[in-house]
Amino acid sequence: MTILCYHSVQPGWASPLAVDPADFAEHCSWLVRRRQVLPLDEAVDRVDHRGRLPRGFAALTFDDGFAALYEHALPVLQGYRLPATVFLVAATLTATGHPVDWVDTPGEAPLRTLTRDQVLHMQEAGVSFQSHSYAHHDLTRLSFADCVADLRQSRELLSEVLGRPVGLLAYPRGRHNAQVRAAAARAGYRHAFGLPERAEPAGPYSIPRVGVYHGNSTTTVRVKSSRGYFAGRTASAFPVAQRIARQALRR
Ligand SMILES: [Zn+2]
Repeated sequence: MTILCYHSVQPGWASPLAVDPADFAEHCSWLVRRRQVLPLDEAVDRVDHRGRLPRGFAALTFDDGFAALYEHALPVLQGYRLPATVFLVAATLTATGHPVDWVDTPGEAPLRTLTRDQVLHMQEAGVSFQSHSYAHHDLTRLSFADCVADLRQSRELLSEVLGRPVGLLAYPRGRHNAQVRAAAARAGYRHAFGLPERAEPAGPYSIPRVGVYHGNSTTTVRVKSSRGYFAGRTASAFPVAQRIARQALRR
């Protein structure tokens, strides 16, 4: 289990979704020394039937396309020459835009998403962009037809903006079921990614990722980026974080 999922990298937003820029730089410094970080489209070809990459490999993803990535993540990724993929909410790139209305812990300042210019600049700098649906609905609550329409609209709009095909999807909040997975295939995606809190069956439309959240240390990232993270005793991210915290307190 080695595909990591960040959301924003930014100071001053007290949310689990916001990793502090200094912490992010430390994570990247560790990853570049201790893991081979693959572009996501190469990584998907190498995951096994349990959704795991070979030992020592990792991939970096970011959900939601927050504007802060431009200032706080891009320079670090470039500095370490790390490949990364950002999953965009397509409606945020339309002429009318789309507010960030899907975050449970929005904080005080309004949250902004990447502009088209920022996306294209990041793409030129080597960052890959894929789909995080059209409007960040909970796809498990849509009808099959509405789900296909949402996902197809996202893929088509993003392909047009990016000038290249879009074939990967990260489900909003990682939520999916058999109908959503079938809709992703029908809408033309090759692979799709979840964000499970515990081990779940993996497949081409349910590739697991591990979330990295506010306050996660490099030690936590090391545990989360280990191949067996979801195997054996570990049922979810939270017991691991608690165990690490307890061990740290004992020392
Ligand atoms: Zn999201």
